[in-house]
Amino acid sequence: MTNQDTIFSKIIRREIPANIVYEDDLALAFTDVNPQAPVHILVIPKKPIAKLAEAETEDAALLGHLLLTAKRVAAEAGLTNGYRVVINTDADGGQTVFHLHLHILGGRSLAWPPG
Ligand code: AMP
Repeated sequence: MTNQDTIFSKIIRREIPANIVYEDDLALAFTDVNPQAPVHILVIPKKPIAKLAEAETEDAALLGHLLLTAKRVAAEAGLTNGYRVVINTDADGGQTVFHLHLHILGGRSLAWPPG
């Protein structure tokens, strides 16, 4: 299932603005428009995977790349004291945009468990 018309696809295509902090052939990272922490950055694949539940074995290298991109972006954002990486998946996971994305949250101590 593809999801070419999410707001994140529009950001990839530069049809709507975003504060892009990292880009390569496979991934894009930009600040969240409604930040839940002092640093809140989203890392997305350019491939329109709707949600983690739809990732396939063939996406293994891409998924690894997204995690390493999250690590890189977190370091570049100065999150030397730690951070959290979250993937909300589908209705019970609280997913609202159906283009796979990793949230990087940091800059303050985060509570656990999440609500
Ligand atoms: P989720 O609830 O896990 O699907 O996360 C979607 C995230 O996308 C939320 O944190 C939103 O604040 C964020 N978001 C929605 N639209 C935009 C946008 N145009 N630019 C940046 N972040 C956005």
